[in-house]
Amino acid sequence: MTAEKLYRLPATVTPERYQLRLTPDLTTWTFGGEVKISIRVHEPAREIILNAAELEVHSASVRLADGRVLPCGVSLDAQNERATLSFAEIVPPGAGELQIQFSGILNDKLHGFYRSTYKGTDGKDKPLASTQFESTDARRAFPCWDEPAFKAVYQVTLVVDEKLTAVSNARVLRETPLPEKGKKEVVFADSIKMSTYLVAFIVGEFEATEPVLIGRAPLRVLAVPGKRHLARFAVEIGKASLEHFSRYYDIPYPGDKLDLIAIPDFASGAMENLGAITFRETALLVDTEKATRSELERVADVVSHENAHMWFGDLVTMKWWNGLWLNEAFATFMEMLAVDAWKPQWRRWDSFTVSRAAAMQVDGLKSTRPIEFPVERPEEAAGMFDVLTYEKGASVLRMLEQYLGAGAFRDGIRLYLRRHEYANAETTDLWDALEDSTKQPVRSIMDTWIFQPGYPLIGVEKTAGGLRVSQQIFRYLQDGSDRERKWQVPIFLRAGTSAGVVEKVLLLDQPEQRIELGSEVEWAVVNAGAHGFYRVRYSRELIDALKRGMHQRLSAVERFCLLNDTWASTLAGLAELNDYLNLIDLLREENDVNVWTTVIGSCHHLERILDDAQCATVAKRLRALLAPAVQRFGWSAKQGESDLESQLRGDLIAALGTLADDKDCQERASELFAQYEQSPANVERNLIPALVGIVAHTGTAADYQKFYQKFKNAQTPQEETRYLFALGNFRRPELIDRTLELTLNGAVRTQNSPYLMRGILLNKHAREKAWAFMKSHWDEMLRQYPDNSIPRMCEGIVGLATPELEADARDFFAQHPVKQGSKQMEQHLERLRVAVECKHRWKDFLRA
Ligand SMILES: [Zn+2]
Repeated sequence: MTAEKLYRLPATVTPERYQLRLTPDLTTWTFGGEVKISIRVHEPAREIILNAAELEVHSASVRLADGRVLPCGVSLDAQNERATLSFAEIVPPGAGELQIQFSGILNDKLHGFYRSTYKGTDGKDKPLASTQFESTDARRAFPCWDEPAFKAVYQVTLVVDEKLTAVSNARVLRETPLPEKGKKEVVFADSIKMSTYLVAFIVGEFEATEPVLIGRAPLRVLAVPGKRHLARFAVEIGKASLEHFSRYYDIPYPGDKLDLIAIPDFASGAMENLGAITFRETALLVDTEKATRSELERVADVVSHENAHMWFGDLVTMKWWNGLWLNEAFATFMEMLAVDAWKPQWRRWDSFTVSRAAAMQVDGLKSTRPIEFPVERPEEAAGMFDVLTYEKGASVLRMLEQYLGAGAFRDGIRLYLRRHEYANAETTDLWDALEDSTKQPVRSIMDTWIFQPGYPLIGVEKTAGGLRVSQQIFRYLQDGSDRERKWQVPIFLRAGTSAGVVEKVLLLDQPEQRIELGSEVEWAVVNAGAHGFYRVRYSRELIDALKRGMHQRLSAVERFCLLNDTWASTLAGLAELNDYLNLIDLLREENDVNVWTTVIGSCHHLERILDDAQCATVAKRLRALLAPAVQRFGWSAKQGESDLESQLRGDLIAALGTLADDKDCQERASELFAQYEQSPANVERNLIPALVGIVAHTGTAADYQKFYQKFKNAQTPQEETRYLFALGNFRRPELIDRTLELTLNGAVRTQNSPYLMRGILLNKHAREKAWAFMKSHWDEMLRQYPDNSIPRMCEGIVGLATPELEADARDFFAQHPVKQGSKQMEQHLERLRVAVECKHRWKDFLRA
């Protein structure tokens, strides 16, 4: 006998249409509700089981097709978040209507139906209420079949104060004043047939932009009063991306309107509720006159990502949470595609190499996981919102798209969406559609990437008249396990031969393969264009040839890969640290922002591993590299320079002033910051984060106080987070203590505190204090912070790179397991292990 799966609902009764009426009270933080659910009873039933959590059910009954009303008893199972309705007589098969009266609380944990507060334009605290249901929190707002496969139509009615705005998934049918003084009833149209986790309602004071039409659907951006002027950019990318997707998918936008709503307290980045997408403010509202290019790109990314979900995720939805990767990987892939089409000068696919590298960092661990894995309990899905789902998932889709050809891939996607619209699908359905449309063995290729963890290291060497390529698993820690694991690897090859440059795309499906080119190879780039999710290790003579022609033979993304792969091999003990530093020295003429991002990132990593004396030597070496580069770019914008060059100037200066600890640079930055305070318009905007970072790095108590005030009085969400997170970069012990206090004393929103804490842990000068603070305030953090942020906060422990701190961290988390992210915790600890192992391996490095 198998145990009944208490977390999966029986399908003997299924919902078809919900009529939901809610009355939230923003002063007592409670709500009352009534739901009428049109149901279909598939077999005679004595009980009906659905989900409910933190709700009180006052009454329930079923009206049958013949008009009879059957009363029932209700029992709530808090642990399994279920309500069981028990009937004295049998409910016969056929149609019926379930009616339930209930009430609940507007909680402060940023999930379910929850509260948020903000300072109004009059300086007073104002309340609002919003929802966040993914993955399984709709059940905190109303009793429902809270699983993605139980799709239904929702008709929502909200009873609210007459001065407030109410928003839900569909357009407003009517707003009627109620006899009760000061109240109105807002009735919304029927939604499309969709899953519970996509239902949304938001109530508060909002200002909206003028609607713009996408086909027949009006698009608006909503923000709390005083912020509407920050919405223009989101309207532009919102319109551009929706139009892009309607064309790409060849299906019109499925909703009857689309509102993009900025919520002051928000646990993740954004949520793709159909027709009512919610965002944290930094991901939607931005001042186009002041924001840096990266800040604009973040808004463009997130808006595009959520819009892509309106089809991929909302119109077609995964059957169960194991399929979450497909939603998120695809939305991430489409986000790049849309932003790249909208602003080609940003070269979005090039900067995606940075995200791909972040996924490869985690996926090179023994504690990684396959992209898709069996999910039993829905809460296991919480651990899936990570770089493997989003970034690795999007990377392997991009690799497939490039292998099949963009047009063929798109045709397969269209077929998939048309086949499964208003319904649910599984990964295998996507491969079916792509195989039907391209006649290629998509499934056998993709199964090796989706169901196997990790990725290969491709070895390349010369043969007479060609190359030999081989594959073996890449791991940071060499324990010899899983060496037999193999992938079907799309190889994108470009080679310089005695007969000219050859390009080839082929599939490496063996442990080793010869590539005949018919002439002597001088140099070769495997993973040309950087679309492959693998690393490459060239033979000595091939790597020397690439180094000789680094800027002629390799494109910027290919140089990125060369540096990133070499750094990874260095961490893995497959290459010497000195060789890596010598490779960096070849970048004197480098002008690509992503190449520098990987180099600067690796040096920050190195700084956390090496001791102070070693760091001083590395800093000196970096000064010799960075100072001339900064000189080349100057400190102010040049005529005709691109956004990316302007961003690079900021990145180089930030690295010179912090990592390389250059005194002249620090002085100049502090002068320029003073100038910026006097007349902000005179300082190039992409430089501001660098100035703020350097001032914090060298900062005094007076600087600290100034930054704190700037955080509190910020005019834009970007300025607010810039000064807030800079507080984590100060180095004086008494200032570190002050920032640690901020993480729990209510001065910082709980949506941001965990990330501030992560930043302090990663600050080498603060890490010991931060770690001690985190241990002693652990329970309080768990109580205050949103659940999903705890494993993300803990990523900061990768910076605790000493044997003593590592041992202590292992002990602590053995005693205090993080239940919502055990896999991520294993990965953080393994990354820390890699760092401590390197510390040991490099203990004599750079010693005089
Ligand atoms: Zn998403």
